Amino acid sequence: RPRVLSGIQPTAGSFHLGNYLGAVRQWVSLQETHDAFYMVVDLHAITVPQDPEELRRSSRLAVAQLLAAGLDPERCTLFVQSHVPEHAQLAWVMNCFTGFGEASRMTQFKDKSAKQGTEGTTVGLFAYPILQVADILLYHADQVPVGEDQRQHIELTRDVAARFNGRFGETFTVPAPYILKETAKIYDLQDPAVKMSKSASSPKGIIWLLDEPKKTAKKIRSAVTDTGTEVRYDPEGKPGVSNLLGIYSTLTGRSVAELEQAYAGKGYGALKTELADVVVDWVTPFRTRTEEYMGDPETLDAILAKGAEKARAVAAETLADVYDKVGFLPAK
Ligand code: ATP
Ligand code: MG
Repeated sequence: RPRVLSGIQPTAGSFHLGNYLGAVRQWVSLQETHDAFYMVVDLHAITVPQDPEELRRSSRLAVAQLLAAGLDPERCTLFVQSHVPEHAQLAWVMNCFTGFGEASRMTQFKDKSAKQGTEGTTVGLFAYPILQVADILLYHADQVPVGEDQRQHIELTRDVAARFNGRFGETFTVPAPYILKETAKIYDLQDPAVKMSKSASSPKGIIWLLDEPKKTAKKIRSAVTDTGTEVRYDPEGKPGVSNLLGIYSTLTGRSVAELEQAYAGKGYGALKTELADVVVDWVTPFRTRTEEYMGDPETLDAILAKGAEKARAVAAETLADVYDKVGFLPAK
């Protein structure tokens, strides 16, 4: 079985619709066909300030949401990143095999640090793509299911892996991104030029999966659409409508062409009202399942303990190989 690895940040508490459609949905289907490793990346979360109690709660909440979305701990390895110390350990080595200029070209860092300016930004935020390199390479992942915004980091991972392999011999699997075209980038409902984002979206532009469904419906009904009236998929000319059509199509399995036909002559209002129903029908049971898992912290912790153990078995072996190759003395 080919292997997949991916992670999600426990920031903000609730996942948003972009996280689900762009990443988590693929994680669920890949656990059937792949040897799948999925983690809640708390090490990544602290690249920006976090309240400790809030972080602990949202880490559990992230696991609960992943289970509610359909991850099955019998079919995949589900764990929290900080439970596997090899992530931080390999990241240090990878830092030393990444060029400063190479890291400086990461657009996610540029975007995320733009607001505070580099003086207000941590070294951790700058280095987080290299931690991600370590995350992926530790497990010899063949594929990494993520949204389009992560493509550049997978490219970086490929470059660093190939460089290390070239110098020390075959060590790492060079991974490929697994990005589905239709859901690669879900856009902010108020600004369809930018991605829906935990950290950057306006409150009205983002669909939080755990929000009150009524609030969610309202946000969809007031999504920014485009001039004109025709419901047509045209990401260039009609980014708002196209975003809604993409979401609609993925959640219902109806093709975009079929939806265009169904809404011919009906206008944007009908599209938005009916999409609001579709999303509410999806999030309502999702919220209930998440609450159920949150009500049983012992089960969550047991799942995570088992996941960490399975992950460490793989990660420890990779790290030992790397430590040996770079010339560290074995600890006796
Ligand atoms: P932040 O803005 O803090 O980086 P985020 O919204 O990007 O948060 P992450 O936890 O960083 O959330 O991302 C988890 C996964 O969701 C990643 O695979 C990422 O590519 C994917 N993802 C995030 N936003 C979108 C989006 N708008 N469309 C599609 N995929 C997305
Ligand atoms: Mg992100």
